[in-house]
Amino acid sequence: MSKKILLCGGGNAIHVLTSLIGSRPDCDVSIFSTFPGEADRIRDAIPEEGIQCVNDLGEDKYGKPVKVSDKAEEVVPGSDIIILAIPSFTHELYLRAVAPFVKPGVIIGAMPGEGGFDCCARHVLGADFVNQSNLFALETLPWACRILEYGKKVEVLGTKKEIDVVVTEGKNASAESVLELLQTLIGRLPVLKPACNFLAVTLMNINSVWHPTISYSFYRNWDGQPFDEPPLFYYGADEYTGEKLAKVSDEVLNIRAKIQEKYPDLDLSSLHHVRDWMLMSYGDDIGDKTSIYTMLTTNKGYRGLTHPTQPIETADGTTKHMPNFKYRYFSEDIPMGLCVTRGIAELAGVPTPNMDDVIIWCQSVMGKEYLVDGKFVGKDIAGTRSPQAYGFFELDEFLRANNYV
Ligand code: NAD
Repeated sequence: MSKKILLCGGGNAIHVLTSLIGSRPDCDVSIFSTFPGEADRIRDAIPEEGIQCVNDLGEDKYGKPVKVSDKAEEVVPGSDIIILAIPSFTHELYLRAVAPFVKPGVIIGAMPGEGGFDCCARHVLGADFVNQSNLFALETLPWACRILEYGKKVEVLGTKKEIDVVVTEGKNASAESVLELLQTLIGRLPVLKPACNFLAVTLMNINSVWHPTISYSFYRNWDGQPFDEPPLFYYGADEYTGEKLAKVSDEVLNIRAKIQEKYPDLDLSSLHHVRDWMLMSYGDDIGDKTSIYTMLTTNKGYRGLTHPTQPIETADGTTKHMPNFKYRYFSEDIPMGLCVTRGIAELAGVPTPNMDDVIIWCQSVMGKEYLVDGKFVGKDIAGTRSPQAYGFFELDEFLRANNYV
């Protein structure tokens, strides 16, 4: 019997997944999007042969959904696997929409998960439901991908070599069998490696370290003037950036050490320093492996990528570029990223002066308040996926309620 796979969203990643999974004869793919007008737009655009995915591995695919809808009741019932491949600030919205129609024991997860996905799912779907299901999260999206023609063609610019995936045991399926199934669905690459648990994935969230810290380090010298061209993100980094990334990453590892002091059996071994993560993820794509700074500025995969900006017209009629602090490097990687880690640090009693520098600058450009006088008590905490947002103010209670120990 065909597996029923539900894809939530309608952006770049959903185009790739529709093509990959829809090309399989043993799967029925449906798309669920609550974004206004998106379901109709995709349905109307998809040609008879399906969405084409052109791929850096030279393994092009065509795949088509059996249904596309903005109504959960039309696509959710009967789904065996539900995949959220959407920006993390929409996870809760989609989880709430599917909740009345999901069957117990469903396989449900996010790619990427970003920090605290499991806490969010537990909060929305309920602990009993989550404990029966296989909940999964990929540490990052398997691909760098862009839609070339909406509903018709998507390009995978780069496929990661391997990524960590966390899967919980469910009442119907083992974590191991779900990992195998996910590997079958996405194809031979990247290789999906089992991560220890959701806490390790949350703390390992590379985007939450990378994007805010690189932005903070770059803008520390900015004079407020518009740029002639969008500045380079990774290739524009300097020695300071590399050192700041190392210090923030050291603080994350201090959290690991502190938690493991109290809970030596809690396995957080898949949590790595950003230096090691770079080497594992990009390997020979890196020209100079001397330091984080040289790795950032000689990684083939990062060439040409720029800081998020928006164009502005100047008085003399030329187009210049101002920073876009509403971009996901801020809107996702702070509330669902660095704030989650910072909240856990607060529970563990680990000082994080470098992380705090980054959050304080980011919250100021975002117009938010998370840290006040060095304490994680700002008025916008409820909009994060930190433990504090879900009412946890004590480490043991947080770890137990979320099944980490
Ligand atoms: P995307 O920006 O293309 O996805 C946007 C989609 O999210 C929309 O099409 C819609 O379906 C949904 N959405 C957004 N706001 C919504 C709202 N208010 N209500 C309902 N639906 C809404 O994202 P993507 O490129 O497909 O990436 C998915 C995730 O993977 C993101 O978290 C992104 O940060 C991450 N990621 C993407 C890439 C990449 O190369 N595309 C690489 C690494 C990580």
